[in-house]
Amino acid sequence: MLTILTLPVLNDNYIYLIHDPVSGKIAAVDPAAAQPVLDVLNQKGWRLTYVLNTHHHGDHVGGNLELKQKTGCTVIAPLSDRHRIPGIDHGVVDGDVIMLGQHSVRVISTPGHTSGHVVYHFVGDNLLFCGDTLFVMGCGRLFEGTAEQMWHSLQKLKALPGSTQIYCAHEYTQTNGRFALTVEPDNRHLQQRMDVINQQRAKHLPTVPSTIEQELATNPFFREDSLELQKTVKMENKKLVEVFAEVRRLKDSF
Ligand code: ZN
Ligand code: FE
Repeated sequence: MLTILTLPVLNDNYIYLIHDPVSGKIAAVDPAAAQPVLDVLNQKGWRLTYVLNTHHHGDHVGGNLELKQKTGCTVIAPLSDRHRIPGIDHGVVDGDVIMLGQHSVRVISTPGHTSGHVVYHFVGDNLLFCGDTLFVMGCGRLFEGTAEQMWHSLQKLKALPGSTQIYCAHEYTQTNGRFALTVEPDNRHLQQRMDVINQQRAKHLPTVPSTIEQELATNPFFREDSLELQKTVKMENKKLVEVFAEVRRLKDSF
């Protein structure tokens, strides 16, 4: 069993520390800053094995160099972003498998938010670290990709087992949920989930992890086939990718 620690940093970022107690190996996913990670490592007496970056944005790689310098860890990141990932040691592409102790981690390429974005799937552990591709009830903005690319990327994640736990890189859930309700006001799963989310956020609790199953029921970017959603955004009888693009466009100005 892996242990996952969730470290809230900056305004709304999460850094995840993944610890394998059997091998003693540890990965830090998207370290926006080094100090919060170093503090936990010191406290626990752990030594960092890997940094895993999903993409090149500063709020995901900001701690790379300091962590590398102070812990000697290996920085793993998308190969296509090698020119813009500080300290990259090992570039990965779609389908690559890396090992954290005996745990295999499959790399899935998910362009859309950025051209090089990847997510890390701990296959046997049912865990997905998805950076800024998939959020709880949302998805990343299209900075370097088309709606079509993002849609294809999200189809790959949709196909993962329903029980897969989703660890995204930002706490955007409450705003995402408010938007989701505007496009699917009668979705009962969504209404019920928002009650839970609002209670969690009132106590400043993280809303991660989610699951693929929960996202299928409530995330508008997974629900382009919902008739209610299609009707609300006036995209009935359109291609699913076009419905998705319209929902993404509406969210941009929400
Ligand atoms: Zn980003
Ligand atoms: Fe980000």
